[in-house]
Amino acid sequence: MTDHTHADTLRTPIVAVLGHVDHGKTSLLDTIRGSAVSEGEAGAITQHIGATDIPLDTISGMAGELIDPSDFDLPGLLFIDTPGHHSFSTLRARGGALADIAVLVVDVNDGFQPQTEEAIDILRRTGTPFVVAANKVDTTPGWNPQDGEPIQRSMEAQSERAKSMLDENLYEIIGQLSDAGFSADLYWRVQDFQKNIGVVPLSALTGEGVPDLLTVLMGLSQRFMKEEMAIDVTGPGEGTVLEVKDERGFGATVDTVVYDGVIRNGDTIVVGGQNEPIVTEIRALLRPRPLAEIRTEKQFEKVGEIGAAAGVKIAAPDLDQAMAGAPVRVVRDRPEAEVVEEVKAELAEIEVETADNGVVVKADTLGSLEAMANALREAEVPILRAEVGDIAPRDIAVAETANQDEHKAILGFNVDLLQNAEPDLENADVKLFKNEVIYQLVEDYERYVEEKQRAQQ
Ligand code: GDP
Repeated sequence: MTDHTHADTLRTPIVAVLGHVDHGKTSLLDTIRGSAVSEGEAGAITQHIGATDIPLDTISGMAGELIDPSDFDLPGLLFIDTPGHHSFSTLRARGGALADIAVLVVDVNDGFQPQTEEAIDILRRTGTPFVVAANKVDTTPGWNPQDGEPIQRSMEAQSERAKSMLDENLYEIIGQLSDAGFSADLYWRVQDFQKNIGVVPLSALTGEGVPDLLTVLMGLSQRFMKEEMAIDVTGPGEGTVLEVKDERGFGATVDTVVYDGVIRNGDTIVVGGQNEPIVTEIRALLRPRPLAEIRTEKQFEKVGEIGAAAGVKIAAPDLDQAMAGAPVRVVRDRPEAEVVEEVKAELAEIEVETADNGVVVKADTLGSLEAMANALREAEVPILRAEVGDIAPRDIAVAETANQDEHKAILGFNVDLLQNAEPDLENADVKLFKNEVIYQLVEDYERYVEEKQRAQQ
């Protein structure tokens, strides 16, 4: 963290939700948003671009007697709206993960699954504090739903049989966490959330246990993360691009999470681009209008400035080459060239090693490209070219130049084949692999190579 000599204040911690597919990440985010909306007075929660901001007052309303708001000086929690561990691992802030804290969602009946393990590996590598949401407790046979209640009270209302069945599943998860090298326990038995992972039983469907989860997230942030949350609110804004999107009337825009300082309309910014950093001037900072107004008015409202932590859409010229996962920096109080160098240095960290021969890799964000490159290096698959973006005719042409048959392949992570590239692919001797799970993508490719080799023998 830079030396903040004045105007230091605490920003909102940024929370990401991870876990195996179908374990309930989206439902959990929806439930948190939904109950925050019904709890808060109009406007109490703000849906920014790509993130939902839930202020402390709303959280304390939702958590009832579990939280005393006077114990906290952090302003609330900012949930990244896109669930999934790649959205977490691929969004970087100054070389680390963008999120300060994570919720790992595990289906109580299903326990650890491949993507749970993958998420754990990422959390371990990035050193991100996390909490486990043991989801779907309502599916325990004989469960008596207690909508929106704290989990301990809900558990008291269950039959002995339901309680013991849930217990068994919870201890299974605690055991699996221990096998993964984390000491864990039910959250109400945890004293030190830095040493032990708290497990919060809950149901995204009925909302039971959700107050507890918010309480644990607030407590963990307040006790252990205050230093990281101290920012200069007037300092030059720093953020990470979540998504590059064409927006009618604005051209290419970047949805950005701001994690430090403030971004103002008219600021000069440096954004990581496909070839080199983009230097541009902000035309408009945009936030979605409240849902009720969208039908009658334009979709976005303009704001004069936005301070960390928050999501915002930035409209500015020349953003079409911007990359998801790349840094956004405001130029203020120092030379533009210095900021450009800083962005370059950050991008260089992510650069992927390529060879004269190998496969073509395309991924949706810089961070996922890096993760793909790591997985392929471990599998000893060389990379001819690696880029962020959808699969274009040029990629097929490049893949065809590979001088080994098995390398005439494109591995696309979380990207689409552009329509104008479809005929090229049909006519080319290039195999396309697409997946939203990195290890599956690599496995599919390895299986293909094995089959090819077997056929040749
Ligand atoms: P994701 O893939 O992790 O985002 O999972 P989703 O949120 O899409 O949930 C997958 C399925 O599980 C959906 O059919 C949800 O309705 C269901 N589901 C999620 N949470 C719960 C829960 O707490 N209880 C029950 N019974 N079903 C749930």
